[in-house]
Amino acid sequence: MQKTIALVAHDHKKAELIAWSQQHKSVLEQFNLVATGTTGGLIQDNLSLPVHRFKSGPLGGDQQIGALIAEDKLDCLIFFWDPLNPAPHDPDVKALLRLCSVWNVPVACNPATADLLITSPLFIDKEHQRSKPDYGK
Ligand code: PGA
Repeated sequence: MQKTIALVAHDHKKAELIAWSQQHKSVLEQFNLVATGTTGGLIQDNLSLPVHRFKSGPLGGDQQIGALIAEDKLDCLIFFWDPLNPAPHDPDVKALLRLCSVWNVPVACNPATADLLITSPLFIDKEHQRSKPDYGK
């Protein structure tokens, strides 16, 4: 099964995410890519990679990606959120990051961390499965 990566960037961070994605295109193209609406459009235009685009973040896109996590359909989140500007959907941002912790989903919030994540041997190991918490106990 091909793993799925979500890409999200706030407006002031979009250029950084596009640059990072171009740098790692050869790895990204081995995965299913999903993204919030505007971010996904930019990835498609700049990298010519297929991306499933959800709604724009402020219109529910972050929550749609959160739903993927809750349904165990997301393997990694690259989320360049903006620490210097408030967003109308700040509660959604917090909720998305929270779900990554709830379900032990690897998440990178800046290019330095994203570089380490995507160059990890575990990242491209198709057999590798992260441990998943069992809240049934
Ligand atoms: P966008 O959403 O990609 O549609 O701009 C990102 C966000 O603000 O969460």
